[in-house]
Amino acid sequence: MINKIHQTICKDTGSRNESAKLIIVIRLLALIMIFYSIIHGAFSFMTKDSDGLLFSLLSLILFAVVLGTSYRWTTFTTFCCLNVLILAWIIITVINFGWNIGVQHFLLTLLVFCFYAKYGHEVIKILYACFLFAIRISLYFYSQHHAPLLEVNSGTSDAMQILNTAAIFITISVIMYIFSRDSQMLEGKLIEYNEQLMKQANTDTLTELSNRRSTTAYLEKLLRNPETPISICLCDIDLFKRVNDTYGHEMGDVVLKKVAEFFRTCLPSNCFISRWGGEEFLLIFPTQNGDEAGVHLSTLSKKMKAYTFRCEDKTFHISMTFGLVEYDYVSDLDTIIKEADDKLYYGKEHGRDQIVF
Ligand code: GH3
Ligand code: MG
Ligand code: MG
Repeated sequence: MINKIHQTICKDTGSRNESAKLIIVIRLLALIMIFYSIIHGAFSFMTKDSDGLLFSLLSLILFAVVLGTSYRWTTFTTFCCLNVLILAWIIITVINFGWNIGVQHFLLTLLVFCFYAKYGHEVIKILYACFLFAIRISLYFYSQHHAPLLEVNSGTSDAMQILNTAAIFITISVIMYIFSRDSQMLEGKLIEYNEQLMKQANTDTLTELSNRRSTTAYLEKLLRNPETPISICLCDIDLFKRVNDTYGHEMGDVVLKKVAEFFRTCLPSNCFISRWGGEEFLLIFPTQNGDEAGVHLSTLSKKMKAYTFRCEDKTFHISMTFGLVEYDYVSDLDTIIKEADDKLYYGKEHGRDQIVF
């Protein structure tokens, strides 16, 4: 049953490029007004108020017609009809039943409705808001000088005040909920998308390690306010070109990914690991001195060398050369990287497969 009502309310309009949200709000508003008229009619019937009953019946028919047309006409036409109908209904109700039943507050529903709808320029919406304001003020002064056309006793007045207040709260809540739900969802998606973009911009796609850009940013921040010893290591896979030449570039990629995995599993969890470029990696130990970092690198190097890579029927091993420096609390980023690079170069020149500290 609920599913069927939901499907009926959400049924799309014939026209393309129309706002699906707006038509749903229109139908819900029309339904609320129909429901309102039924309650008003039932109340009038119980209190033997024939004028009230007639008025509620007429309202019910008109709102039902608007609901029906929402399945035939364009959303814009139905939107205009519902606006005009509610506006006319407010004016007639105030004239008939007076100011005290609070029906004039439905003007706020129209205000919210018009501002959320995608139609019209902002200026038109502001003009419409002024128009609604003028209607409200006019109705107030009219009511001050004219008695209601229909007789309303205080019990009826109280009951209608409650009914109107409830209907106004419900209609405004429905409008705001449906329209803001999407924008909140979109905002959430945008934040998620931004995070993804940020991650992509800071990550190397092959190894999923931090790239040079994000590493530089991290290191700059770290060196600005050093509280503990910091060690930095630039390392490079030995004779990697030979791996590519012998086993193919794809196998070279596999090696790079495996090396990244070794870094992740063998180094301390707070170690910042990055692909500095090609087969060169920069490791930052934010709380370790050179000796401590050296111990980790030694374990890493042993495990890496012991690992057997397989390519078809052949097997091979790799090694790395490490240039390790401990931050001296004064050098700038370029100097410290240059120092690590010099040590790496020294290691390469003196037989590779070693940690130079
Ligand atoms: P060395 O021990 O002196 O470092 O020798 P090497 O062969 O490792 O150094 P060289 O600079 O001569 O070669 C590096 C090779 O790394 C060349 C390049 O094609 C390869 N390379 C760089 N980036 C990638 C990559 O993303 N994937 C693969 N498969 N190879 C890469
Ligand atoms: Mg190399
Ligand atoms: Mg290299």
